[in-house]
Amino acid sequence: MTMASDPKTIPQSGLLSAEANQAAALAAYGGVLTVDLDAIIANWRKLEKTAVPAECSAVIKADAYGCGAAEVARALSKAGCKTFFVATIEEARKVRAAVPEPTIYVLGGYFQNTGEHYAKINCRPVIGDLNELAEWDVFCRRTGWTGGAAVHIDTGMNRLGLTLSEAQAIIPRINAGDHGITLVMSHLASAEQLNSPVNAKQLASFRAIASEFSGVPAALANSSGIFLGAPFQFDLVRPGAALYGVNPTPEADNPMQPVVDLKARIVQTRTVERGESVGYGATWTARRPTKLAIIAAGYADGYFRAASSNDGTRGAEVIVAGKRCPVAGRVSMDLIAIDISDLPPNAARRGHMVTLLGEGITVDELAHHFGTIGYEVLTSLGRRYARLYKGGNVEEPLAQPAPASTAEQPPSPPPIQQPAPPPLLG
Ligand SMILES: *Cc1c(COP(=O)(O)O)cnc(C)c1O
Repeated sequence: MTMASDPKTIPQSGLLSAEANQAAALAAYGGVLTVDLDAIIANWRKLEKTAVPAECSAVIKADAYGCGAAEVARALSKAGCKTFFVATIEEARKVRAAVPEPTIYVLGGYFQNTGEHYAKINCRPVIGDLNELAEWDVFCRRTGWTGGAAVHIDTGMNRLGLTLSEAQAIIPRINAGDHGITLVMSHLASAEQLNSPVNAKQLASFRAIASEFSGVPAALANSSGIFLGAPFQFDLVRPGAALYGVNPTPEADNPMQPVVDLKARIVQTRTVERGESVGYGATWTARRPTKLAIIAAGYADGYFRAASSNDGTRGAEVIVAGKRCPVAGRVSMDLIAIDISDLPPNAARRGHMVTLLGEGITVDELAHHFGTIGYEVLTSLGRRYARLYKGGNVEEPLAQPAPASTAEQPPSPPPIQQPAPPPLLG
């Protein structure tokens, strides 16, 4: 396992071995977020196989759905992925710095004065409006840039893209050749609903217009769209969420592997009497003498307040010492209380790590408790966690696995002993 590549993330001391440095650094964090790059690669391969002979790209916008765009791009590029999609030029710049070769499309489109940026990092805009197309054209003529662009056509989402009649109007230009358009694409609005009539309608519209872009590869499917079948796959598919473990087929079992594991530290354990309340608003009352673990994560870390429990409703669950335990009371900014009364005595102690995501708690399960979708769970994952990357061949692995995570391990002592402070009591 390797630490995040950003040297700002993990302070290093020259005095210690790499492993001791890592242990010392992790002790400074309330939680540890581990991204399994091998699982992302396995998910990409599965999607690629499902879509063959179409090319399988990877959507890595929003920092690869919170998983780290540079790390994910590097790992997938090594695995054979040749095309990436991001949302903004700034995201593209970071991805380009990580992977020199692959094609990078920027979904956010073309604005005046962005041409130089695109040319400098050799990335392609996804053009979704006739004004954009005209401005891009001017830039290409003026500078001779031939880096290419995608044309996005709206087939029912009514968000980005040329209307069908606007797209029709540029067909003569496409037929004239030497147009620089390297991809024609549209986006599905309801792909995760297998039987939505919107899918067939969008497919029919896109198929008709894409066939007129002769010689230009076509792309329609996002993650869920891939599972709608071969007619939706065209020449290239654009999965995002499924790469990161979100279920692309919510009406069936999840075919993807989980990617993110999130653990947070127990800051305190305490007991409360029957009838006592816990947390802000006193919304949760102990119905028995209750043992609580207070853990170092909260809504500021992307653990939504909607996962709170109160006297009327159960909230989310957390895995403590291998067992599911319920949230008690409101999730606060930096802390969550967990009812650990059903664990054996001393199974959970101060300094132990508990699992918020992973060990069977899926992104989709958390999304259910958060009142949202897996996409928002991932893109909300907090910035305060230490980040570890597993697999992906990103850097040389350390000799020792990270001592970050199991509930069995007692907290490690600080590696550099400070002189003991005077006793507070007695
Ligand atoms: C975000 C996005 C995708 C990826 O969608 P998922 O549902 O995450 O697979 C594909 N295409 C476009 C245009 C997007 O904006």
